[in-house]
Amino acid sequence: MSRKRTPVVAGWFTGDGTDGEGEADFRLLGTRCSACASVFFPREDVFCRNPGCPGGELTEVPLSRRGRIWSYTDSRYRPPAPYVSDPELEWQPCTLIAVELEAERMVVLGQGAPGVALADLAVGMEVEAVPGVLNEDTETTWTTWHWRLTGTPGSAEAEADAKGAAGVVA
Ligand SMILES: [Zn+2]
Repeated sequence: MSRKRTPVVAGWFTGDGTDGEGEADFRLLGTRCSACASVFFPREDVFCRNPGCPGGELTEVPLSRRGRIWSYTDSRYRPPAPYVSDPELEWQPCTLIAVELEAERMVVLGQGAPGVALADLAVGMEVEAVPGVLNEDTETTWTTWHWRLTGTPGSAEAEADAKGAAGVVA
């Protein structure tokens, strides 16, 4: 029996396979203020949080797929609620990566994809947001986002891709 794929937080990302999309469709979703162009993630749907802004309309925008590692660590202990995990299962250590999105000028925290080890990571490496699984129970696969390394750090190809991704958003 297949479990139902459900985003662990509704409205924070799209293309995670819940509607049959492929990985290429995966995007984190933020909101952008129409008055000051500030982008928020986690999404802000009520008031613009920029203190210097008179207040504008907040509309949903997909964030850049790729960014660069700003900081990272690993998680050796189970995080407290509201983190969703099965207390019966042994905690699987994972990496936590803070990624700087150039176009949005923000840092987005997330888990490294399965198999990404601390030793693989360095500040400045390029990563991309991919669909991931946070937890599974008998009926549900709870989906989230993971950061996956795109390949050789600082290669000409990666640079071009990063610029391309930023250009689409801007
Ligand atoms: Zn604003």
